[in-house]
Amino acid sequence: MERHVVFLEDYDTVISRYMVKGCDIWLNTPIKPMEASGTSGMKAALNGTLNLSILDGWFDEAFDGTNGFAIGHGEEYANTDEQNIIEASSLYDLLEQVIVPMFYDRSNLGRVPDKWVTYMKSCIKSIAWNFSTTRMVKEYATRYYLPAIKNYKILTTENAKNASMLYQWKNSIRSNWGEVEIIDVSTEQDSEFFVGKSIHVSARVHLGNLTTEDVVVQVFYGTVNHEGELIDTGFKDLNLTKSEEHLHHYEGEYICNGTGNQGFTIRVLPTHKLLVNSADMHLCAWAQ
Ligand SMILES: *Cc1c(COP(=O)(O)O)cnc(C)c1O
Repeated sequence: MERHVVFLEDYDTVISRYMVKGCDIWLNTPIKPMEASGTSGMKAALNGTLNLSILDGWFDEAFDGTNGFAIGHGEEYANTDEQNIIEASSLYDLLEQVIVPMFYDRSNLGRVPDKWVTYMKSCIKSIAWNFSTTRMVKEYATRYYLPAIKNYKILTTENAKNASMLYQWKNSIRSNWGEVEIIDVSTEQDSEFFVGKSIHVSARVHLGNLTTEDVVVQVFYGTVNHEGELIDTGFKDLNLTKSEEHLHHYEGEYICNGTGNQGFTIRVLPTHKLLVNSADMHLCAWAQ
């Protein structure tokens, strides 16, 4: 095997340019979820070079079944030895049974590997326009940088009066959060469940010294996997329907979109118009 591996010293954009346009297959084998992005695979794809990769980083988003080849199904392993064995055999199986036969199938008159070329076209078509620096910079700017500048202005104006208000609000949330508790959760019983069905849920929440203005109560739902965890999740805000003393009633609906074992739970998060994201405070109360 060693005789077929070449180590390129001083890898730089000049060497890289030859590689991305001269290769047929771009192999990428990170240990999921360690791949930050995988930029080189995007550069290869722009040149019609097909990716053969673990479903991690950018390729997990880009892979559609006909624009490259995926090693495994995007699963994560607790045991690295087991992972290496499974992924290595998946890689060799793919090469032997799919990739090499497709690449060398030149049975037509023009001696062109038709199916391979279809994959190359599908690769450029689905990836080139979407995985670009232009899109990335635009997205960073509109989703994060511009809102951040706007927030900075709001917080610092008039001697930073909003910043000190937010600071005080955060302190009060932190010191009172221990009292936040979901007392009970209920949903309609004895009814039939099917995909597309709207499911009604309600919860009673105790907020102690906090008010209903300080929090958002959400239903968090998804498919229950073999380990009992929710995957392919979504969430929706519930509406406040009634308050009695310190007990608040919330209700709402969500649409059941998956098949198999489905589940939901309820959570409470702090919310404030100056808080960029409810997750920023690292506070969340879950139903028990
Ligand atoms: C593309 C490129 C990288 C990034 O490669 P990854 O495989 O995404 O880590 C690094 N260095 C050079 C010179 C490149 O052209």
